[in-house]
Amino acid sequence: MADNIGVHWFRLDLRLADNPSIENLSKNVASIMPIYIHDENQNIGQASKCWLEKSLKSLNSQLNKLNSRLYIFRGHPEQIINKILQNKSITHVYWNRLYDEDSISRDKNIKSSLQKKSISCQSFNGYLLTEPWNIQNKSGSFFKVFTPFWKTNYELLKNNELDLGSKKKHNFFNQTIDFSIRAEELKLNSPKKMWMDKIISYWEIGEDAAKVKLKKFIKSKLQNYSSGRDRPDTEFTSRLSPHLHFGEISPRRIFSEVMKSTIDEDNKRKYLSEIGWRDFSYNLLYNYPKMTDKPIQKKFNKFPWLQDKNSLKKWQFGKTGIPIVDAGMKELYETGWMHNRVRMIVGSFLTKNLLIHWKEGERWFFDCLLDADIGSNSAGWQWISGSGADASPYFRIFNPILQGKKFDPKGDYVRKFIPSLTKIPDKFVHSPWEMSSEEQKQYNFSLEKDYLLPVVDLSETRKRALAAFKSISE
Ligand SMILES: Cc1cc2nc3c(=O)[nH]c(=O)nc-3n(C[C@H](O)[C@H](O)[C@H](O)COP(=O)(O)OP(=O)(O)OC[C@H]3O[C@@H](n4cnc5c(N)ncnc54)[C@H](O)[C@@H]3O)c2cc1C
Repeated sequence: MADNIGVHWFRLDLRLADNPSIENLSKNVASIMPIYIHDENQNIGQASKCWLEKSLKSLNSQLNKLNSRLYIFRGHPEQIINKILQNKSITHVYWNRLYDEDSISRDKNIKSSLQKKSISCQSFNGYLLTEPWNIQNKSGSFFKVFTPFWKTNYELLKNNELDLGSKKKHNFFNQTIDFSIRAEELKLNSPKKMWMDKIISYWEIGEDAAKVKLKKFIKSKLQNYSSGRDRPDTEFTSRLSPHLHFGEISPRRIFSEVMKSTIDEDNKRKYLSEIGWRDFSYNLLYNYPKMTDKPIQKKFNKFPWLQDKNSLKKWQFGKTGIPIVDAGMKELYETGWMHNRVRMIVGSFLTKNLLIHWKEGERWFFDCLLDADIGSNSAGWQWISGSGADASPYFRIFNPILQGKKFDPKGDYVRKFIPSLTKIPDKFVHSPWEMSSEEQKQYNFSLEKDYLLPVVDLSETRKRALAAFKSISE
């Protein structure tokens, strides 16, 4: 193995530490060539492209400090890898696994073609706590319900010292490859540059930022997680989702750091179970590979969805006249992120009150979220629309007024994104249309001028949704 080189192919694992592929390569090769391949045919949302560019730059700077660089290429992965293999010292190509249908089939093809060329090719788990095929129920099948899935997953993890890799500095490759390019040359941050610059300004990106964020979260927020996680007017969740999506931090590191912390069991368990939902989403995606487009429950194929472009647009841009829905959609468009409770409220409103197909919501989220994730996003939308495995029952239609009153009692969250509601008293902040014209005058507020009339009647549309559901259940 004197001068042999191993290629590590970065995908959704944009970190150097606790990276099983890099760790294993370093045992077998003299130096590691770190590569990233941008395939323009791959579906990446606009917001994610912006995060990706910054994350690649951050990874490149880390590698520069180790006297190397990130070798970035544009093109079809198999063709790029074949071109790289013209360097005859390359003996190994390793990566960490992905779980969607297209990636699985692409990776299988590349693996078998590399093996035919006698290149050692291996893949590892760098993305999940436990991979889908390692969690089975008593009859040897996969879990369709979260609670027993998580119980089994947690039991597998809790007593094991998780291998987070060594702290040693690996030896990275440092020679010129003439067809590699810089992250800027991928032109990921266009054409919507202004919007992208704005949403990204709220975030620190990269592996170091993710580690710091986890530390701060454990130190100052985790002890309030159970009680605070549902409150969009506070900041008690970790906001690690984009870092987890891009693999700047691994769920195994989070699990291990949280377990080691001195925080009480309740808060620890609650937080880890949310990381468990991420694994569960991938368990579903792996076992229902078409769930990105098709409902898991087949009866939803005949659900009478409405084609309503006008209402869809109002929903997308936060102009429905329902404050908590509009605040959520504005938070998404302005910051690239939305609180989980509000994701559920806006999702229920779209699919149940507006009766618009969940796929429309999934698409908009995929484009606007910095954490847009093929597993968690499609599982989230199938859950909220009622068509998923272990989904929210269809008859549980969120009432956005009650949700607002319960989880944003003083209206701080909605006022942050809809400042015109600052004028009115707390009791109307989630339902300003309930103000009489005298009350509107008293507070110098006009529903039509300062805000909007609701796009639908909540109680009528609730009845309509239940009737639609009944029609597919008979
Ligand atoms: C309709 C809908 C769409 C969603 N789309 C996405 C998506 O594209 N990408 C994404 O990462 N999450 C998605 N979620 C899940 C969840 O809303 C976010 O993961 C969470 O809000 C991220 O904030 P946080 O990091 O502060 O979460 P925390 O509460 O701090 O949770 C820690 C981590 O656990 C994971 N997690 C938490 N809740 C869930 C959940 N319900 N499902 C899956 N993983 C979860 C995330 O990785 C998160 O970072 C969606 C939820 C819904 C209802």
